[in-house]
Amino acid sequence: MTIDLTYTLSAWLAADLVTGAVHWWEDRYGDPSWPIVGRHVVQPNILHHREPRAFLAGNIVERNWTAAAPALLVAAAFAAAGWWWLALVGLFAACANEVHAWSHQRCSRPVRALQLLGVLASAEDHARHHRSPFRSDFCVLTGWLNPLLESIRFWRGVEYVIGSTLGIWPRDERATA
Ligand SMILES: [Zn+2]
Ligand SMILES: [Zn+2]
Repeated sequence: MTIDLTYTLSAWLAADLVTGAVHWWEDRYGDPSWPIVGRHVVQPNILHHREPRAFLAGNIVERNWTAAAPALLVAAAFAAAGWWWLALVGLFAACANEVHAWSHQRCSRPVRALQLLGVLASAEDHARHHRSPFRSDFCVLTGWLNPLLESIRFWRGVEYVIGSTLGIWPRDERATA
C-alpha cells in the first residue's frame, strides 16, 4: 500500500461526494416524523438551516456522533477487508461534519489557509447551501465539488430521474407535485 497525494486527495474528494449525497438525501427526502433518523438526523438538519450556529453550542461528540459513528463503522469494515482506500474515505467522511462546523466559525490560520485553497470548505463556500430552499451545495468537506456539481445541475438531475422513474419527489416539492 502506498499513500501519496493522489491517493489521499482522491479519498478526500470521494468522502466529500459521499457525505454530500447523504446530506442531499437527508435534506431533500428525509421526513422529520420518521422514527430514529427523523429525530436524530432530519430534525437537527432542519434546525441547522433555521439556526446555523446552534450546533456549535454542543461539544464535538454531540455535534458529530450521528454522522461519524456510522462512517467509522463502515471504515472499520473496509479496513478489516483490506480495502484501505475505501477505509480512508470512511475515515474522512467521519470528519465531514466537524469540517462543516469550522465553516460556521472563526478558525485558526492554518485552517483558514486550507479553506482559502478549497481543501476545506470555507464559510463563503458553505453559505451557498444556507439559502432557502436549501437545495444546492450539499458537499461540506471541500470547496471544489459544489461548483462543479451545481454547474451540471447534478442533484436536480438525480432528483428528476428518481421522481420520474419511482414517483418519489423531494420533500418541498412533494406537497405540490
Ligand atoms: Zn442542509
Ligand atoms: Zn451549515
